[in-house]
Amino acid sequence: MTTIFKKIIDKEIPAKVLYEDDLCLAFHDVNPQAPTHVLVIPKKEIRSLNEASTEDKSLLGHLLFVCPTIARQIGIAENGYRVVVNTNDDGGQTVFHLHLHILAGRALTWPPG
Ligand code: 5GP
Repeated sequence: MTTIFKKIIDKEIPAKVLYEDDLCLAFHDVNPQAPTHVLVIPKKEIRSLNEASTEDKSLLGHLLFVCPTIARQIGIAENGYRVVVNTNDDGGQTVFHLHLHILAGRALTWPPG
């Protein structure tokens, strides 16, 4: 099923893009939960972490690997940040296209709510 993120990938709807390469796209979350809230998504449509297959292993690594690159680019690397992957209902996933949240800009509490 096509999601809003696929439309962002296809440039059918706008997003504040911070980073893009052949495998992924990163943009500001429209409803930020912290002063900095960035989403990193694969260009490949994968419904959730549960649907990632063996062939997606290097893609999953790539998504995580670009996080510190983006963090340095926007100046949050040193103070720190949190990377979150919400998965299905109990995980709080609302958009069913795999994505990593990068949250930063304040001291984040633990455990999350
Ligand atoms: P989830 O709840 O699935 O882990 O995260 C989905 C995220 O996508 C939410 O934080 C939500 O604010 C964000 N989001 C939903 N629709 C849009 C949109 O059209 N543009 C942007 N930039 N973010 C969106």
